Amino acid sequence: MGSRLLVESHKEVEIVCGIVAITSEKLFSVKKDLLFGLKKLEYRGYDSAGFATTEGNYGKEVGDIDNLLRSTQKDFLTKTAISHTRWATHGGVTKQNAHPHFDAKKEVFLVHNGIIENFLELKAALEAKGYIFRTETDTEVIVNFLHDRMKTSKPIDAMRDFMKAAKGTYAVVFFKTGSDKLYAMKKDSPLCLGVSKGRVFVASDIYAFSHETDRVIFFEDYEMAEVSPQGFQFFGMSGPMKKEPVQIQWEREPVIKKHFDHFMLKEICEQPAAVERLLHSLKTTQAKRMGEIADMVRGCKRIFFLACGTSYHAALIGSYLLSRLGFEAHAVIASEFEDFSIIDKDTVVFAVSQSGETMDVITVLKDIKRFNPKIIAIVNYPYSSVHRMADNYIEIMAGQEICVAATKTFTNTLVAIYELARVLRNHIVLDRIPSIIEEVISENESNVKRLAKKLKDKHDIFVLGHRVSYPIAREIALKLKEISYVHAEGMMAGELKHGTIALIEPGVPVIGLVHESNRDRMDSALREVQARGADVYKIGNHSKDFMLPDGLNEEEYSIVSTIIGHLLAYHIAKLNGLPIDKPRNLAKSVTVK
Ligand code: GLU
Repeated sequence: MGSRLLVESHKEVEIVCGIVAITSEKLFSVKKDLLFGLKKLEYRGYDSAGFATTEGNYGKEVGDIDNLLRSTQKDFLTKTAISHTRWATHGGVTKQNAHPHFDAKKEVFLVHNGIIENFLELKAALEAKGYIFRTETDTEVIVNFLHDRMKTSKPIDAMRDFMKAAKGTYAVVFFKTGSDKLYAMKKDSPLCLGVSKGRVFVASDIYAFSHETDRVIFFEDYEMAEVSPQGFQFFGMSGPMKKEPVQIQWEREPVIKKHFDHFMLKEICEQPAAVERLLHSLKTTQAKRMGEIADMVRGCKRIFFLACGTSYHAALIGSYLLSRLGFEAHAVIASEFEDFSIIDKDTVVFAVSQSGETMDVITVLKDIKRFNPKIIAIVNYPYSSVHRMADNYIEIMAGQEICVAATKTFTNTLVAIYELARVLRNHIVLDRIPSIIEEVISENESNVKRLAKKLKDKHDIFVLGHRVSYPIAREIALKLKEISYVHAEGMMAGELKHGTIALIEPGVPVIGLVHESNRDRMDSALREVQARGADVYKIGNHSKDFMLPDGLNEEEYSIVSTIIGHLLAYHIAKLNGLPIDKPRNLAKSVTVK
């Protein structure tokens, strides 16, 4: 894989369910070395965090890694340690449930990402042997299971027994107190090894050690490793195996908030540059791949876009565009995919996941591989699991996105899909997008702030769209929910009168996404709600609410109207003092089902 990877090179990175473990010939600092790497995985979840060293020292705290750093007064120097940032699936967000978990004698310390589905069954068997459980997590069965098996077996054999007994998903790293060795295994959840001089990392993703090494080995399912400062040995279910590191090409990019109050605003404002970078790569380094992907599409019977959350909204636009070009194209939410699709060797599946680690998407890909479809990944992170499972890929080149809510990755996913449509039928103009974004952001700051003030105490907001602006309506509504904590519905304008209009009463805000291509339908829907007293705001030309350049094509319009919606969600959240970059209950990369 010849991709360069955009990673942060700056130590003031402010970012966070992830695992980072280090074993090293020389002593290292838990705070400066281990938790620094963990902080770079904070985007995976930030309910609680914790660490443990091989000497048996450990710390746990509810909240993000900064909380853990604050509560850990003393730093520890050690040669082997593990750490974890949790996104709770089983058991409340408490210090007790935070990882690492350990057995009653503190002989084994362990961190886990994923879900053990049959943990109650495993737990009952261990309780019958006298093990006492002190947490509500599924993870505690892993540590006690391994502890029990290691009384009579080697760690690798204990892990193998666990993998035979367990159902679910897991990336697990553990050590035995007093030993310099780390042990790791994985199924479904991502795990990799970073090999540096005299030091080896085991982590959920490569960003945890991007500042120190570019030599990486990815664990595949049912693989295990025994890792020491001098090296590592991999094992499969049937015995030892040889794996060599691959060299990753990093391209360093500073990740700092600059003068922005939040990463979300910074990431919205840097979109002209992010789109420019993508457009350039689509014309150069990614042009050949795009041609190959277009050929796959031309030669197939049907196309599915597979995605979740914000990526699903981009996927919906992809299905609209390709359907218009005469292809059978559908967009399906990954967690519902199995009941909606016919997959065979003549099917192309676009797996859209900015992180490339979305478990719902990965689960579908694993399932449909048996039908031999062509899988194309659309990801921001090359080398991610979705990328490695695909036959070909498009890298959206947005750069690292720190805010949990996707903004620039959404725009760049759209641009990548538009480019595909352009290659398939050359009628789309994309070159103006960066300058149009710039203009729209700078001309609408006060308009967005003004509307944010009017909407900041509203409990419900309706966002209406038609044709290509329907997915945008949903995207804006999603952002209003996740960042501004306002109940918002993004709807097809034509569908309103079939039910939802019952909720319209005087003073309810309705935002209409109006473009030349949908004006008639939008105007009638907006008149219908206005007649019932709704406060109507329009994002479109000739709107008194926002300034958009004349003559925008649909592609340009969908991008800039989204940006206005994202900015609106941002400013409402800001006025209400909400934690914009890390909204409650969310994780950027959803690595559980
Ligand atoms: N299921 C485990 C828990 O709830 C691990 C969650 C995670 O991946 O962070 O603690």
